[in-house]
Amino acid sequence: MYDELQNIQAKLKNKLTEKRYVHTLGVQYTSAALAMRYKISIFDASLAGLLHDCAKNYSDDELIKRCLKHNIKVSDVEKRNGFLLHAKLGAYYAKSKYGVENEEVISAIRYHTTGKPGMSTLEAIVFTADYIEPSRKPLSNLDDIRSMAFVDLDEAVYQILDNTLNYLGDKAVTDNKGREIDNHTVEAYNYYKKLHDNKFNRKE
Ligand code: FE
Ligand code: FE
Repeated sequence: MYDELQNIQAKLKNKLTEKRYVHTLGVQYTSAALAMRYKISIFDASLAGLLHDCAKNYSDDELIKRCLKHNIKVSDVEKRNGFLLHAKLGAYYAKSKYGVENEEVISAIRYHTTGKPGMSTLEAIVFTADYIEPSRKPLSNLDDIRSMAFVDLDEAVYQILDNTLNYLGDKAVTDNKGREIDNHTVEAYNYYKKLHDNKFNRKE
């Protein structure tokens, strides 16, 4: 089983930039550590973490072209923000190029960028590991999120989404890089905010 991870590592080393490869290993091992904490399959978490960015080495135009070629639906937001498609295309390649059959692993790759409401433990782990792995540039409260990830995964997901969005009044308007927000992210934020509010701001 672990030979399979090594074989995929060797393939990705040739495909990705050095920096992305280091990030990829960081997400693999962080996902494995979180799988230990939350008692899910370490292999599945490692595999999903390892492959999450397997389609990241393409330009926005190339991502759109490749998705259309494989009949992967491209939404209007994705047309304008092609980078989002590396998650969908990555899920497709996990299956077609890397032989992954486990749909939960594929789904964790599919939603690693946007998140979605009610993620499975595996989905939430890969989403979180992508944000907290050791080679990530230290952003505001990253240390707190890193430690929270091992205490309360839903709360860590909420804090990541909250960090990722840029607000105008109460409403999230763009992500923190000024890019349009995918609908899954908005829905995920609302879902995890509700969990957060129920836990921490319970009105007396
Ligand atoms: Fe990614
Ligand atoms: Fe990533």
